[in-house]
Parts: sequence; structure tokens; C-alpha cells
Amino acid sequence: MTKQPVLFIGHGSPMNAIEDNAFTRSLAEMGKAIIPKPAAVMVVSAHWLTSGTYVSVNPKPETIYDFGGFPDELYRIKYPAQGSPEFANEVIKLIPEIHEDSNWGLDHGSWAVLKHIIPKADIPVFQLSIDYKKPMQYHFDLAQKLKPLRDKGVLIIGSGNIVHNLRLWFSQTGSESLDWAVEFDEWLKNKIMERDFQSLINYEKQGKAAELSVPTVDHYVPLLYCLGLTEESDVIEFVYEGVESSLSMRSIKIG
Ligand code: ZN
Repeated sequence: MTKQPVLFIGHGSPMNAIEDNAFTRSLAEMGKAIIPKPAAVMVVSAHWLTSGTYVSVNPKPETIYDFGGFPDELYRIKYPAQGSPEFANEVIKLIPEIHEDSNWGLDHGSWAVLKHIIPKADIPVFQLSIDYKKPMQYHFDLAQKLKPLRDKGVLIIGSGNIVHNLRLWFSQTGSESLDWAVEFDEWLKNKIMERDFQSLINYEKQGKAAELSVPTVDHYVPLLYCLGLTEESDVIEFVYEGVESSLSMRSIKIG
């Protein structure tokens, strides 16, 4: 079994699920470049927040439409991948404190990007939740314990956005990027290249730009999972970048 990479995807609007644009084409390219194919995919999505950490053992995860006010077309999409109780149980074996969940399906943090990365939906997918009450360090440390999954052929995807201020995004008229969003995105890019992950765990020290970029932690935390899963030997590549208003679409391939 060949070690799988780790992806961080800045997923943006659910509309990306049905759009053909530079970002969605980059996802399709990324998917094709993953050879051999993964045995399963585990997604840490910004849209599954829980108290305690859960892993989905659901063998047939439903497509969840966890958004409102979008065109009907979006609600008709199904991502029919199977679940992977087998690998979900591997997660529990590695970290017995993680609880099992048999109800959660695939939220749009998963399917809206997987639809482009693995369009055939022929690889099992399961999700790991984000314990919303835990400090940033917890997520990074937990991810480190999950490294053996990569060797077993599991592709791990963190799906969020490193700059995600929807309140300001909706109030902007154009897609012109905002200074503080660019500043935080650039700072983050440099810290990743320097592999200074501790600064990224303690991002709050960056002051105002960090406060505006990460008004709530849900879309930032998936990045910490990706960083925690990184090995020294991994090549880190920015496969997509771009700040649209107050949203960074930066996506990263590790390994
Ligand atoms: Zn989102």
C-alpha cells in the first residue's frame, strides 16, 4: 500500500459543486494526480461540529444539503459513495476516546469537493467530526495520532477555508480581495512553507487580521488536522490560491 497524501481544500460556496471554474478544475486535476487510488477517504469538514469527537461508521452515508437559499439543482445532487465502517473502526482503534456515529452522512464540505476530486464516487468516504469546544492544540495533536491511516491507503481531506468571514463576504459588492484577508492568507502561506506549525496553532497572536479572517474556528480547524498529519519528508504544494473578498480559496497538497 502506498502512502496517501493529505489535502486541505478551501471549499468556498456550495455552488462550486455544480460550477466549472478554475478552482473546480484544480480539484479535478488533483484527483487525477492521486495514484494509486486511495482505499478510502476520510474528510474533516468544517460543517460537522460536535461536542466530543465522532467518526462516522455509516455504511451508506446520505448526501446532506446543509445550506439554504441555493438553486434547486444543488439539492438534486447525490454523491453516492459508500461509507467505510472498516476504516472508521481503525480510527477508533488508534484513538479509543473517539466516539462512533452511525447517522451522519456527507455534508457539503465533503461532497461538493469530492464531486470534482473523485467524480465517480467509487471510493468509500467517511467523516471525522470537529469537537468545537476543544482548543486548537487538541486538533493538531489528535491528527498526529492518525498518521498510520495514510500508510493504509486512506486519503485524508481537511475541508474548510483559512480566511472565512461570511458576514463581510455577503456585505461586499465585488470580489475584490480585502487587505487583511490577503495579509492573513500570505502570513499563513509563509508559516506553512517554514513549517512553523506552532504559529499556525497559535494564529490568534496575529491580532486584527486573524480576528477578521477567523471569526469562528470551524473553517480554520480542518487545516490543523492537515498540518498534524504532515511528515517531515512530505512535499507541500499550494495547488490553488486566491482571496475573493473575505474568503481564501487556498488549497494545499501535502505528500
Ligand atoms: Zn463551508
